[in-house]
Amino acid sequence: MVEEKRRFSISNLFRQTTPKPADRKVFNPGIQEKDNSYMLTAPVIYHIAHQSIIVRTCVTQLKNEIFRRGYTWEEKFVLKCDDCSKEHKTPASQCVECGSTNLSKPDPNQLKYASSFMEGYVNKSEQLFIDVLKELEDDLNIMDDAYLVMVKEYFLDNDSEVMMHRIKEIYRGDPVGMHIYADEMGERGNKGFTCLRHRDFVVEDPIGTCEQCGGSELYPVHYVNRVNGEEQYFLEGEVLHFSKYTPSRLYGLSPMITLWNSVTTLIAMDNYINSSYTKARMPRGLLAVQTRNIESMKSFWKGVKEKMEQDPHFIPVMGIESEGGKGSIEWIKFMDSLKEMDYVSVKDDLRDRVSGFYGVSKIFMADNSSSGGLNNEGMQILVTNRAVEMAQTIWNNYVFPFVTKEFGISDWVLKLPPSEEEDEIAVLRKREIEVNIAASIKNLGFEIDMDDEGRFSYTKPEPKPEPETKEQEGDVELDPYAGTDIDASQLGQMQEEMMNQGKKQDNPATTRNKPSMDSGPDKRFSGLPEAAGNQNVDKRTERRVG
Ligand SMILES: [Zn+2]
Ligand SMILES: [Zn+2]
Repeated sequence: MVEEKRRFSISNLFRQTTPKPADRKVFNPGIQEKDNSYMLTAPVIYHIAHQSIIVRTCVTQLKNEIFRRGYTWEEKFVLKCDDCSKEHKTPASQCVECGSTNLSKPDPNQLKYASSFMEGYVNKSEQLFIDVLKELEDDLNIMDDAYLVMVKEYFLDNDSEVMMHRIKEIYRGDPVGMHIYADEMGERGNKGFTCLRHRDFVVEDPIGTCEQCGGSELYPVHYVNRVNGEEQYFLEGEVLHFSKYTPSRLYGLSPMITLWNSVTTLIAMDNYINSSYTKARMPRGLLAVQTRNIESMKSFWKGVKEKMEQDPHFIPVMGIESEGGKGSIEWIKFMDSLKEMDYVSVKDDLRDRVSGFYGVSKIFMADNSSSGGLNNEGMQILVTNRAVEMAQTIWNNYVFPFVTKEFGISDWVLKLPPSEEEDEIAVLRKREIEVNIAASIKNLGFEIDMDDEGRFSYTKPEPKPEPETKEQEGDVELDPYAGTDIDASQLGQMQEEMMNQGKKQDNPATTRNKPSMDSGPDKRFSGLPEAAGNQNVDKRTERRVG
């Protein structure tokens, strides 16, 4: 018996875990480089994005729309149980989980430091919090990698253990220099260890101590910033890396790589227009006359080239004497006109592809050439709303929880409100429905209370104690219809009649959708073996007969 007991105790089980899938993008432990298989490095991608009109327009519009209404602090819950920490989204007088009455509201003291910190400049560069967020949103739309860096002040105890931290500044980390520091599995914090004070120091052994200050404890490295030939190591909780379009275990995938051809073609088209207007290197055409003297043609071309250097709009004219006045004159065009090259429609198509990726519709870019005024404004703005919604989800679900956690805030959430203001009528209508529901619930016998935010709470009233006189009467059966002319024995029949009447009046039959006839005689043979019945029944004849 004792042996059997031991066999099933948890301490005797061998712990086995499923192997973690290795990531082929992790090349070697330590600093992870971005996948460079497209031969496009981060500085090149930024350069092209900044040069392209359409990319900058999309990115800027998107950014302005996402942060148009700023950020807000909201209550994470209405009440929280102090005993089992169950969070209640609606008002309650006692915990629905454990029945405790120790319920507390969100603590406003938690917000004190964070909200005053964010109201002013969040760093020494005098940036507002929203400015940093906007920079990061640009990074997401260009590189699909953004790094939020929190500069912390650490408070150590006598054993140089971190007791607490305070966030002093918030910066954007440059995706060009920031790298993820990971092991073979792409997991952070296992391969490098650094000193709190000396952030350029790194060792692979977590047990060692800092060489520079001698004896300081080491902390796992999660990120590294490589800039100007130096490396700065960051710990967990100091940096948040996030992607928008292609989140992965390591880096995102820049939209610019996908849009590369469209964007560079658009830039080339703009350059073409630019150079053809400012310094046309090619003659727009020339007048050619038939000739037999090739040598004079060659020297003529040389002269043309020299002339073109001086005057870009020079049109060469060559005349050759011809005996008898024969020979033809031709106008040979070199540059196709913009119209012949379908310039406008090609450019439109390329722009549509880029703006389509970012979810920015063209009407939003003050270009209503194709839509005929504001005809399909509604539809196009819907597309943009979705793009805004998608971007705000990233902030609300990934970034702000990290920020509030580092500020030690558990009762409040930081949120970006939707860019479109709520429809006031819709809000009132929703309220009307809420009130109606409350009235219905009251009719069911609940007691209703409303808190300071206008939220309803429902309580079930205690059943009233039965009057004592009833007990004294004992087993005597009471006829509720005593004193009326209704005989209790007839009651069932009367109720049935009333119900049938009610039914008929409520739903008078106006149409008959189903044939009332039962099809097939199978029922006649119920109880007999299946073979006994004639299954071959033509239902059409059945119906006709019926
Ligand atoms: Zn509880
Ligand atoms: Zn040190």
